[in-house]
Amino acid sequence: MDLDQAKIPQATAKRLPLYYRFISNLHSQGKQRVSSKELSDAVKVDSATIRRDFSYFGALGKKGYGYNVNYLLSFFRKTLDQDEITKVALIGVGNLGTAFLHYNFTKNNNTKIEIAFDKHNEKVGSNIGGVPVYEIDELEEHLPDDVNVAILTVPAQAAQAIADRLIEAGFIGILNFTPARISVPEHVRVHHIDLAVELQALVYFLKHYPLEEGQE
Ligand code: ATP
Repeated sequence: MDLDQAKIPQATAKRLPLYYRFISNLHSQGKQRVSSKELSDAVKVDSATIRRDFSYFGALGKKGYGYNVNYLLSFFRKTLDQDEITKVALIGVGNLGTAFLHYNFTKNNNTKIEIAFDKHNEKVGSNIGGVPVYEIDELEEHLPDDVNVAILTVPAQAAQAIADRLIEAGFIGILNFTPARISVPEHVRVHHIDLAVELQALVYFLKHYPLEEGQE
């Protein structure tokens, strides 16, 4: 199918990996079809949103049948470039960074941390979870040509200077786990994940917006 990527709203695009993960689980269990209700229960997105999202992919569910799992899977594979592994660099091999190096990203999606950097210390020169750690001062020297996405797990005060350096080296995507809000040029995309803020928001919501039973 010829898909005009520009027409998929960003909110829909962000849900694609979620759908992909669930659909590939169904596929490995040998399931042939899935209803929007089943999908909705599993990924916790309301079924009207799922139907709207899927209509952008040209996947039109049939009443009483649902969606064809094989079709969806091949669509997601193609759209998310799952046939190609995207190699990523990780900067900052502290507690969080080390956990990511041990985490098997390829299990659920095709990204792989290929190389890691830290400032001068005992981790430099080691190999953690199969990933070599180099000194950040030697970024350009060791960086493979096909790596232009980075995970940033350095202390907040180091984030901006490192981001500037990465952009200078040709990076176009940064997953920023530091609490710092970094400024980048327009051609660079930053996604920001602050675990402490997310946890705090969850606790606040539990306190002030308690869910009623049966509500999603
Ligand atoms: P985390 O926040 O991941 O739990 P931590 O508490 O172990 O980490 P931090 O002080 O947050 O340690 O630093 C995270 C990692 O970033 C450390 O390994 C540190 O050496 C590294 N780091 C700090 N400054 C820089 C820098 N300028 N360039 C590269 N790496 C850096």
